[in-house]
Amino acid sequence: IAKNPSEPEFHQAVTEVFETIRPLIEANEEEYKKQAVLERITEPERMIKFRVPWVDDNGQVQVNMGIRVQFNSAIGPYKGGLRFHPSVNQGIIKFLGFEQIFKNSLTGLPIGGGKGGSDFDPKGKSDREVMAFCQSFMTELCKHIGADTDVPAGDIGVGGREIGYLFGQYKRIKGLYEGVLTGKGLTYGGSLARTEATGYGLVYFTEEMLKCHDDDIAGKTIVVSGAGNVAIYAIEKCHQLGAKVVTCSDSTGWVYDPEGIDLDALKEIKEVKRARLTEYKNYRPNSEYHEGRGVWSVKCDVALPCATQNELFLEDAKQLVANGCIAVCEGANMPTTLDATKYLQENGVMFAPGKASNAGGVATSALEMSQNSERLSWTFEEVDSKLKNIMVNIYHNIDDAAKRYNKEGDYVTGANIAGFEKVLNAMLAQGVC
Ligand code: NDP
Repeated sequence: IAKNPSEPEFHQAVTEVFETIRPLIEANEEEYKKQAVLERITEPERMIKFRVPWVDDNGQVQVNMGIRVQFNSAIGPYKGGLRFHPSVNQGIIKFLGFEQIFKNSLTGLPIGGGKGGSDFDPKGKSDREVMAFCQSFMTELCKHIGADTDVPAGDIGVGGREIGYLFGQYKRIKGLYEGVLTGKGLTYGGSLARTEATGYGLVYFTEEMLKCHDDDIAGKTIVVSGAGNVAIYAIEKCHQLGAKVVTCSDSTGWVYDPEGIDLDALKEIKEVKRARLTEYKNYRPNSEYHEGRGVWSVKCDVALPCATQNELFLEDAKQLVANGCIAVCEGANMPTTLDATKYLQENGVMFAPGKASNAGGVATSALEMSQNSERLSWTFEEVDSKLKNIMVNIYHNIDDAAKRYNKEGDYVTGANIAGFEKVLNAMLAQGVC
């Protein structure tokens, strides 16, 4: 904490990992101390912070902060999204980069951990303003990334439009047509099923977890938070598998639709109009719209937090338990606070941490990198079936790791140990670096 002041989210992420890998560390205490394993894994290999000046539609120069944290390259080139949101700061990007190391390790694919972003807010900006910002951002970032060194992707506030502008500027400056970003459009190197991957992957994971507990996702009532990329495609896959999602939310309010969220309406509002959820009632008069937060108060079997970090608190966890919720699987990164996680686990709720259950996005990004390298495109079905296999394997991998350390059913411990072990072995094999 003294070394990294004012970074509460980073401290929270490190605390969760270190608390749970204790048995692994204790079994090798002397060696790991000598090798300064914990010190090395919490210090990013490199952090680049830069100024992003751009001109708005009134001719006014605006200045934002840009950052890329290249956290760990032990098992592959840095990989992780870019977040454009006014709340972005160094501590948030470091927490996301740190989590990304273990998540990427769990996918079984050769990708290291990184993350980046800016405090720029794309909301309410014209396309020209977003382009001007992206071009300026990439003018600096392009010096530090490449298809074999660091491959960013999208995250909050960075979707297909932003990736397109970023890719165009990279190509223009570097003169290279390479897979330097993932989440690209299908006409210029994107992968089928990447848009759907995080949400679909989350639901494949949840389906497998329930199946291994002699249960079925079909027929379940599900609450989802968020209304962005992850939330929309989680809702789509839940409905395809016969479950009913009754809520979604954005940063101003939330929707309750007892008949099940109308996905066409949601996509139209969020993906086409880029509007607010207040509009949902125009499409579904029987639904309810509420200001503020509240999705966790709705009775459900399964909860899928898919908006942002620290959005499910202890009091929400208590409400979920009281309402009979049996599983919480994280679609967002660290949406559940540490005390809420503990409460859910202690009260018999199956709890899947984001680094396992939302790994489908980055896994499919790695599949996009493979397709770019061989200059081929796979079919939707091929990518989707690989995604499903990866999610099923992640579930079994973390379940086994938890059992190996006598923590059966503790998927937080299982995910952290399984993710950490592989990275650590690679780091130790590569010497002091
Ligand atoms: P989007 O920008 O597409 O959507 C984010 C959604 O969450 C929006 O509905 C947004 O509402 C809401 N939201 C954002 N910040 C807040 C907040 N402070 N309070 C309440 N609601 C908020 O992002 P994604 O769907 O891509 O990402 C969602 C989460 O999933 C993030 O934690 C991200 O790191 C994680 N994730 C994303 C992956 C991906 O492939 N996209 C991969 C793995 C994890 P509003 O429109 O009002 O801002």
